[in-house]
Amino acid sequence: MTTDASASPAARPPSLPVKPRIFSGIQPTGRPHLGNDLGAIRNYVALQDKAATEGREAIYCVVDYHALTHVHDPELMGRQILEMAAALIALGLDPKRCTLFVQSDRPEVTELAWLFNTVTPVGWLMRTPTYKEKRLNQPEDVNTGLLTYPVLQAADIVLYKAALVPIGRDQAPHLELSREIVRAFNARYGETFPEPQAVYTEAPTVLGTDGSKKMSKSIGNTIEILGEPDLIRKQVMSMVTDTQRIMRSDPGRPEVCNVCQMHRHFGADYQEIWEGERTARTGCVDTKKLLAERIIAHYAGAREAYKELTADPKRLRAILDEGAERIRPIAEATMAEVRERMGLR
Ligand code: ADP
Repeated sequence: MTTDASASPAARPPSLPVKPRIFSGIQPTGRPHLGNDLGAIRNYVALQDKAATEGREAIYCVVDYHALTHVHDPELMGRQILEMAAALIALGLDPKRCTLFVQSDRPEVTELAWLFNTVTPVGWLMRTPTYKEKRLNQPEDVNTGLLTYPVLQAADIVLYKAALVPIGRDQAPHLELSREIVRAFNARYGETFPEPQAVYTEAPTVLGTDGSKKMSKSIGNTIEILGEPDLIRKQVMSMVTDTQRIMRSDPGRPEVCNVCQMHRHFGADYQEIWEGERTARTGCVDTKKLLAERIIAHYAGAREAYKELTADPKRLRAILDEGAERIRPIAEATMAEVRERMGLR
């Protein structure tokens, strides 16, 4: 019998990547909206580029297992997985500079999620704000996946020992839970995983066309950046502006006007646009029309690329298969370490 503590798995130092890896996941639930891009995807691209110059890995995942908590049509699921992959590439992900894959193509994550279930108190999951919200949104379908979703999310991130996670602010409670799960695991079985940190863009919460709630597919207040120009015009023209500006001659308040706030992201001259609103030189309709045309122009290249990519599902499948293979060694090494630490062999 040995008393040498350094021989036990718990005392062994973790095998962490030298440079923190980047990871994020997005559900295959239709074309991304402006909130997804400004709040998260722009950072996927920026971090991919930074990672490529710094010799670290950026890993992005279409999280189909997560989507199964509410998408139950197999045909739709298959199509939307490829569409989301196409959208991410069209918006700037380069599969040569990052890894893009589908969650279910690396099923080790489900094993890790189960193991994490055993260190996660039920109370933590019951208290998650998104669980409470989703129960209300789909009362006919309160499946266990809705409750354990954050456990799978923690596993998604740390299976690759990633430490930087580009996400929108709405995901902050989930990421906090991931950190708690990692701490619980490390405390019981020894330092194994880094605690993941959120990375936010300058627009961590993009409001929807209603000007009051977060832009979200489930609310239906989105601007579909890869949609046809007429759809974008319609969605932008439906935006709620400064509700106190009744008459065209009333001065506007750009600080509280969602349309003015969005102009920040589509031109360096936004201060001039704001001045026009403040002095009532321009009206809300003018400002919306300008925003719609700028959004259409900004995403014109991405829209074309998206069309080309979705027309070639074989090519998309090959990119995703290659991504899943590329990270197989990381996933397998993590699982071997975890099983050993937990006494599973
Ligand atoms: P949705 O809420 O529309 O279903 P997802 O949950 O698929 O979108 O979100 C994918 C990524 O986009 C996540 O990182 C999320 O935080 C981010 N995101 C979604 N909506 C917004 C928003 N309105 N503002 C900022 N980021 C957002």
